[in-house]
Amino acid sequence: MTDYVKPKVLVSKCIGFDSCRFNGGIISSEVVDTLQEQVKFVPVCPEVEIGLGVPRKALRLVKKDGEPRLIQTETREDYTEEMKHYAEGLFSKIGEIDGAILKNRSPSCGTTDVKAYADLDKSGVIEKAPGIFGGAVKDRYPFKPIENEGRLRNFRIREDFYTSLFAIARFRQRVEGKGSISELTDFQARHKFILMAYDQDKMRKLGRMAANPDEKEIEKIIQDYRELLSKVLSENPSPGSHVNVLQHAYGYFSDELENREKSLFDDYIEDYRKGKVPLSSIISMIRSWIARFDRDYLEEQRYFDPYPRELMDISDSGKGRDL
Ligand code: SF4
Repeated sequence: MTDYVKPKVLVSKCIGFDSCRFNGGIISSEVVDTLQEQVKFVPVCPEVEIGLGVPRKALRLVKKDGEPRLIQTETREDYTEEMKHYAEGLFSKIGEIDGAILKNRSPSCGTTDVKAYADLDKSGVIEKAPGIFGGAVKDRYPFKPIENEGRLRNFRIREDFYTSLFAIARFRQRVEGKGSISELTDFQARHKFILMAYDQDKMRKLGRMAANPDEKEIEKIIQDYRELLSKVLSENPSPGSHVNVLQHAYGYFSDELENREKSLFDDYIEDYRKGKVPLSSIISMIRSWIARFDRDYLEEQRYFDPYPRELMDISDSGKGRDL
């Protein structure tokens, strides 16, 4: 169960890779540092790439005729088209990615939370919107896990991001890479609990697709399956959905557990519901029971081994909780 693929992740270069912020600064991120060994990062600084240099005058997102524009406040130069053009060229060059981690609040890289102003002279923020580059990434990769580094400080968001990132990478490299129906059915079987947490109806639909009762071309089946899988994994499950899966797994052992183990499990479930403990702490408990009671079927489920163990030990700063 410990064979991990390395997801390909687009990342804002100022998050730990280069001092390329407008003021020559760099952002530190424990999440990105910890991922260095586990993923293949593609770091980019779109503002430097369009020739703005370091240091540079600050940019602002301004709504003009309903359209967001990327404007340098001091020179009033509009860089929107250059940024869009750069993004298109980059996407053709790098091809498919498995996910992205972008700098929050940046008028270029931000994904959802960028202050958009009515004009350059008024200070009033009219809405929060994606930045020009961050918006282009979301348009180009609509169902891939794309998060900003601020939100990833929250353990619930981070765990779901890692789960979907590594599942998508496994599918791309194993199933699409090999193009075989046996890889597809194996993927479906091993991801059943993960899919159950995300969407039970779609889990069944994916199961029917993988069974291929109409004997369609394998390329077509894989393409259809990938589209639905990406959509399913793009909506984070609620804590209640995870609890349902955990309790389903618990049913495989409940007759053999001691009373104190049962009440410990109940306590952890309650704490998880309240956001006090991460999912990984309950998964670790179930993993120990899988080993103790030899539950081979559960052993194969990636839900209990969704991403490298090294990623499970970052404590929550709490700062990302309300993002
Ligand atoms: S937020 Fe994006 S554009 Fe701004 S410095 Fe970081 S990588 Fe460059």
